[in-house]
Amino acid sequence: MVRLRFAPSPTGHLHIGAARTAIYNWLFARHYGGSFILRIEDTDFERSSEEMTEGILAGLKWLGLDWDEKPVFQSQRIKLYQEKAAELVKKGAAYYCSEGSSQAVRFKVPNKDVFYKDLIHGPITVKSKNIEDFVLLRSNGLPTYHLSVVVDDIDLGITHIIRGDDHISNTPKQILLYRALGVSPPEFAHQSLIFGPDKKKLSKRHGVTSVLQFREMGILPLALFNYLAQMSWDPGEERIYSRGEIIEKFYLDKRSQGSPVFDISKLEWINGRLISDKSAEELFPLVKAVLQEKGLWQHDLDIEKRPWFLQLIGLLKERSRKIEDFSDRALPFISDNFPYESKAVKKHLKDERLGELLARLSDDFIGLESFKALPLEKALRSRAEKEGIKPALLIHAARVLVLGTGVSPGIFDVLEIMGKEKTLERLAAFNSVSKSSKQ
Ligand code: GLU
Repeated sequence: MVRLRFAPSPTGHLHIGAARTAIYNWLFARHYGGSFILRIEDTDFERSSEEMTEGILAGLKWLGLDWDEKPVFQSQRIKLYQEKAAELVKKGAAYYCSEGSSQAVRFKVPNKDVFYKDLIHGPITVKSKNIEDFVLLRSNGLPTYHLSVVVDDIDLGITHIIRGDDHISNTPKQILLYRALGVSPPEFAHQSLIFGPDKKKLSKRHGVTSVLQFREMGILPLALFNYLAQMSWDPGEERIYSRGEIIEKFYLDKRSQGSPVFDISKLEWINGRLISDKSAEELFPLVKAVLQEKGLWQHDLDIEKRPWFLQLIGLLKERSRKIEDFSDRALPFISDNFPYESKAVKKHLKDERLGELLARLSDDFIGLESFKALPLEKALRSRAEKEGIKPALLIHAARVLVLGTGVSPGIFDVLEIMGKEKTLERLAAFNSVSKSSKQ
């Protein structure tokens, strides 16, 4: 049975490169019905923190990854590494050497080339003369990465290791360690790193790279999961899949050798598709969380009291690419303190006749029995006809006055949700709004 692991060092946030590694190992384990183990590589006591560990676990859970067995912490296994180092010395595979006043343990690299078959790169040979004797145990008694990683992967019975190309130069050393410990090495698969649009390794310079930051932006977990999973694996048809579908179709793809470029607009496009597939009820708690974060949430928006808020989510979701987008776009509906786009004001409120036209339109609206999209549309169109003007003149003006913007979902739906009182109040503000743009 296959056993895979994800082994983050808790010295930073869960970066999307690491998240992709976690996803691939998880998919491989789940596809073949094996186990997925989490190991926290926290032997760098100074740079590791519990807070980072918690953030990494939260990020993995949010992405929908789960793990079997209790997570393993390397900091609790130092003794085991020391024992293994001593065992290697005893076997003659390693030796003590002085490091200042104390002793470190170094691995004795055998005079034989290392050959292995990478599941992605194919056969790889490394000359032994290019590998120098490397440290296993530092003089302070702490293991180096090579020692702890191999001891643990043996102990945990790991069968396959999928990781980034940044580790490819470590692999020959680790294979030698396996052999010295009398264990045959697992299969290795090294994937190309993720690059930024400038073809440099993706880093903070390129913008958001931490999984939890994507969560804060209102990226849905399944969107990021799909994006990262399809970054180096081709399911045949490019579309959005459920996690179950991806597990079923997954295989280790040779495309993992190509350098994928992180494209935020593609991620947002996937996210927008997933948002529009969700019902307003499903989106409600997410939108609420974003509004709360921005200090815009009001108690009376709760569903029972304001069914219109659900209607609003239903209206806005079609063009929202992130949950964050809802907050800007919902603002005019929940507050009077919203901005007017000056370009839209200049363009759509410049006609001198609008003051009177809007006053008469408002009278028509007041007379309506129900303030619903259909009667509103009828009233506006017949007003335009009576006045001998194009309905668009009134539609654009109403949009700018009510929302402050030049584009929006269907204006009659907007007015219905805005309600009679607010609509009339904002149409009546024509003089002051159009004047403000002339100053
Ligand atoms: N802690 C290592 C890292 O975060 C794990 C490397 C490995 O997968 O062997 O890069």
